[in-house]
Amino acid sequence: MGLLDDFSLAGKVALVTGGGTGIGRAVALGLAQAGADIALSGRTEQTLEESAAEIEALGREALTVTCDVRDADEVSAMVDRVTGHFGRMDVAFNNAGAFGWIPGYELAEADWDRIVDTNLKGVFLCMQAEARWMRDHGGGKIINNASMSGSIVNHPQTQSTYNASKAGCVHLTKSLAAEWIGDGVYCNCISPGYIYTDRAAQNPAADPLRDYWNKVTPIGRPGAVDELAGAVLFLATPASDFVVGLDLIVDGGYSLW
Ligand code: NDP
Repeated sequence: MGLLDDFSLAGKVALVTGGGTGIGRAVALGLAQAGADIALSGRTEQTLEESAAEIEALGREALTVTCDVRDADEVSAMVDRVTGHFGRMDVAFNNAGAFGWIPGYELAEADWDRIVDTNLKGVFLCMQAEARWMRDHGGGKIINNASMSGSIVNHPQTQSTYNASKAGCVHLTKSLAAEWIGDGVYCNCISPGYIYTDRAAQNPAADPLRDYWNKVTPIGRPGAVDELAGAVLFLATPASDFVVGLDLIVDGGYSLW
């Protein structure tokens, strides 16, 4: 057995929430390339099916499960469906997320609820359901998709609720990592910087800001969705077996300045 074998997911099963688009789809494909069969969840069956087709083209099995992560019953049913189908769930990437650039003075309660319920409560509900199953079946690796916005305040756009939800996600990850590692349930998170997804490309409000963001990012460019899969793979495999409660920042250096 060589070191590279530690990065293999052959014979393993990974669940990816928000797996129909963007970072979730790219990471799901990366985990499939490393050998895992993949369960994809989200609210939109069509995008999940598109991701599933790409995974199956790699020779891996894909299962799609529609689920709103804000609903505890749906989350519980999602984990039951994945584990019932595959008989195992070794890795979970909790990636589903909601966004909003809204000045604090104008923020409506409904926007607070949508963003925080998805990015913080939703992550907790997924972690709890996944960890209960992993605890009873030999352990597993949970990786949350937080954000550099959990550690810095983005500029110049106003996104206080998103930032707060991601700071909560980071500290939730660390707190449950300490609580659950004794059961073999690993919790870590990644914190991406600006990643150029289809959603980002379709946001006209971001167009005038891109040059500025590149200037204040040491690497001078946004990340591509493919540039996160390696970080998640590390946290998903035995290569990270002494890593507990890490916030792995993948931001081209943005948070250094
Ligand atoms: P996308 O909009 O492409 O991905 C978000 C995904 O979450 C979608 O697939 C969406 O699917 C799913 N989703 C949203 N709400 C819910 C819900 N209530 N229940 C279940 N699924 C839901 O954007 P990204 O790929 O950029 O974002 C993915 C994650 O990466 C987010 O957590 C985001 O905060 C994080 N991130 C992104 C960065 C970036 O620059 N792009 C930077 C840092 C972090 P559907 O609508 O079908 O449910």
